[in-house]
Amino acid sequence: MDNNDKPIYCSTCKKQVGWHFKRVNHRTQFLIALVTLGMWIPMWIGLTLMKIKYCDLCQSPLSED
Ligand SMILES: [Zn+2]
Repeated sequence: MDNNDKPIYCSTCKKQVGWHFKRVNHRTQFLIALVTLGMWIPMWIGLTLMKIKYCDLCQSPLSED
């Protein structure tokens, strides 16, 4: 089985941790887009395309470098 969930070092936990992508809540994004009269839509698209990895333990964003 191909497993892409390689542990990544978390600078907050100071150890290798499991990670997950944060799921975009499209209902919330839609509401923000309505409130901002559509100005949020580019951000919404950006959030959807950006795959930010989050630490499973402390939920902080991870950088892979
Ligand atoms: Zn962590």
